[in-house]
Amino acid sequence: STPVATFCALTKAASSGLLIKGADYLEVLAKVKVMAFDKTGTITRGEFVVSEFQSLSEEINSNTLMYWVSSIESKSSHPMAAALIDYGRSLSVEPKPESVEDYQNFPGEGIYGKIDGEEIYIGNRKIALRAGCETVPSVEGVKKEGSTIGYIYSGATLVGVFGLSDACRTGAAEAVKELNSMGIKTAMLTGDNQASAMHTQQQLGNSLEVVHSELLPEDKAKIITEFKKEGPTAMVGDGVNDAPALATANIGISMGISGSALATETGHVILMSNDIRKVPAAIKLARKAHWKVI
Ligand code: ADP
Ligand code: MG
Repeated sequence: STPVATFCALTKAASSGLLIKGADYLEVLAKVKVMAFDKTGTITRGEFVVSEFQSLSEEINSNTLMYWVSSIESKSSHPMAAALIDYGRSLSVEPKPESVEDYQNFPGEGIYGKIDGEEIYIGNRKIALRAGCETVPSVEGVKKEGSTIGYIYSGATLVGVFGLSDACRTGAAEAVKELNSMGIKTAMLTGDNQASAMHTQQQLGNSLEVVHSELLPEDKAKIITEFKKEGPTAMVGDGVNDAPALATANIGISMGISGSALATETGHVILMSNDIRKVPAAIKLARKAHWKVI
């Protein structure tokens, strides 16, 4: 494309809330063959609501468990953390971040912290292994359709479970269908469980071509490497746990970045709003600039 067409496209994109960091990325955007999305916070709002919270231990009442969980979650920036803290507050349980020791984050799995002398692990099925447990017992009554399930371990003992639900962003289904109609392969890569991933796929009218669940951040990067064999691949993520996949893609599109975080953000393209319909729009713009000849 000509420098003028490129400049116009970059400016037009910027005015619609899409920062493309240079003409090279505009070129690649025009040629994208595969578009992979993160689920939580990208296709979905990342605004969870707690639907259940249960203690499974006779010695631990659910308010004590809630206090441990909300205190440890207060150290985490994951969208699930805010939901659990809010839920605790609705039961008059106030988190105490200062009472948590040795906090650790296991991306794509969950978190750990020591509180009141207990070693607490909170997360998905994978956190069971961290806690020193070989298998995850199936918990009746919580595996609601479409829920993200959380497990709470004290040491290697399962002491609680919770369920959270999240909804798709406005325009998510439209964006995926638009990309499909443009001949782009669409995929969703998530660390969440399979039932929850399939629930999101259903809400999108089953429009995603590929869905992979229960992935660690490095698994997402590996799948991106595979996609790249099919052609230029873009990855859209919200920045939580997605850095390796965003960096592996030919184009990393970060969303929900604003203010001071912008300066250090490594994405090649930054979506300033949370409207993923801007993604197919950007590709259309890039294709136009690419073919414009003066
Ligand atoms: P996604 O790929 O859908 O964006 P993430 O990689 O952010 O998901 O997280 C994957 C899974 O790890 C979550 O579904 C959750 O089960 C677990 N997890 C991550 N962080 C936390 C946390 N702070 N508390 C509890 N569970 C967590
Ligand atoms: Mg995410």
